[in-house]
Amino acid sequence: SDSSSTESLERAHQVLESVWGYDSFRPLQEEAVRDVIHGRDSLVVLPTGGGKSLCYQVPALVRDGMAVVVSPLISLMKDQVDALTNNGVAAALVNSTQTNDQKRETADRIRRGEIKILYLAPERLLTAKTMDFLRGVPISFFAIDEAHCVSNWGHDFRPEYRGLRVLKEQFPNASVHAFTATASQLVRDDIAEQLNLENPHVLVGNFDRPNLTYRMVRNAGKMNQIQHFIQKHPGESGVVYCITRKEVEQTSAALAGTGVRVLPYHAGLSDEERQSNQEAFIQEKVDVIVATVAFGMGIDKSNVRYVIHAGMPKSIEHYQQESGRAGRDGLAAECVLIHGPGDVMSWKRILENGDRNNFDAAMQSLNSMAALCNGVHCRHAALVEYFGQEYDADNCNACDVCLGELDVVEDPITLSQKILSCVVRLKERYGAGHTVKVLTGSRDQKVLQAGHDELSTYGLLSNDGAAAVRTWIDQLISQNHLVSVGEYHSLRLTPSGRELLRGEGQVSLTRVATRSSASNAGRDSW
Ligand code: ADP
Repeated sequence: SDSSSTESLERAHQVLESVWGYDSFRPLQEEAVRDVIHGRDSLVVLPTGGGKSLCYQVPALVRDGMAVVVSPLISLMKDQVDALTNNGVAAALVNSTQTNDQKRETADRIRRGEIKILYLAPERLLTAKTMDFLRGVPISFFAIDEAHCVSNWGHDFRPEYRGLRVLKEQFPNASVHAFTATASQLVRDDIAEQLNLENPHVLVGNFDRPNLTYRMVRNAGKMNQIQHFIQKHPGESGVVYCITRKEVEQTSAALAGTGVRVLPYHAGLSDEERQSNQEAFIQEKVDVIVATVAFGMGIDKSNVRYVIHAGMPKSIEHYQQESGRAGRDGLAAECVLIHGPGDVMSWKRILENGDRNNFDAAMQSLNSMAALCNGVHCRHAALVEYFGQEYDADNCNACDVCLGELDVVEDPITLSQKILSCVVRLKERYGAGHTVKVLTGSRDQKVLQAGHDELSTYGLLSNDGAAAVRTWIDQLISQNHLVSVGEYHSLRLTPSGRELLRGEGQVSLTRVATRSSASNAGRDSW
């Protein structure tokens, strides 16, 4: 009834204060807590650090019975259970590192109704034995942490999450609540579908990070660009993300050579070395950590003043998460992404050697990331829109686009027409590299042998240089006027590309930011 649910919500506030010592819920937390108390299935999307755990931990203490939390990582599970136990909450976990005696003891405590929150990995929960056991226990609800793992449209698909759809069927009286930090609309719909959620309430938090300034710049001598940027932040903490371990080693060594206090971090180092490098960064014995994506899980250092990406991440989810490690204290921080045409190809090679079932989804994520890099739309807006939020401000004043740092081409339609007509003259059978050569009038053997120096578009952009023309092709691809198809990545016009060729439609092109032009470009530039 209404009065009892009001009471429960009041209880939730009391619990928040008495157990955690917090005065109030954050706006979305309160709504999320209400759904759990009412037993309405829900999907909660909150950025990292947004406070997802309390959304299920608080109601677990308010509701009768035991809550089951599904979490993929044993180490994170243990941290959570330790923290809860320290706060006096009856929480437990069962995992493979425990002895049979320990497991039995936990089972006994559950039977006696002494446990309010039980943490399990999905593969353990779904064993026949555990399911049988839990059917005999009054379960209040299931909380699924890292719920994007259930979707193979997400960036971290885990097959064992798929089995979780049986929960709704096997525990008809328990509600199911999914939590994730990263989910596009597509992934969100898929999570609800895969978990068989019943009329779920979808709550999406605020993904905007107004204190971060974003810049996406072209690779124009990456090492110099990184050094130049770090020099702007003497003595401040920063993270440099690289795609491969080898790049981490090289970049870290090069920076150390110029006197930067820096250490590397990647999965190829020993556990001890990783641990000690991470500690050195947290305790500010070094300023900079150069890392692969392996760095950052569960790291809570609030005064990171900048994050540099020395290459494109493989998804916007990754970018949001990694760049989001800057400025957690709410003070101004800078995020710079250095990208080049080779990045997509490098990732594609890596993905081709990975799980083929995920290949299409992974390529789609990669292409969205490339479109963001090559786009000329406000970065704050582009990021939150990707996560399904609207962005209100006309000018964020905190990205290269809104700060007017991009060197925008004045007549982009005419320039696009030159490029697109060259693609048509090449019968849409050649890739970007060859097209660039033709447009810039290269004397390359392949161009001459094919007789492409005879084409009317040969040398049409010879004053602009190959790098610039390459960028424009990438920009036309990311704005969906060109696509690159097939084994040879042949360029083809899309329907909107054909319109553009007729002088219709919209396009926006920018010039390559060389280091010197970028460093003249405005107050916070580099
Ligand atoms: P997430 O799982 O979404 O990344 P956490 O649940 O780990 O985030 O919460 C992030 C931090 O915010 C934690 O230190 C947590 O104690 C704190 N926090 C969460 N909710 C509140 C609140 N209502 N008031 C104050 N601090 C909070």
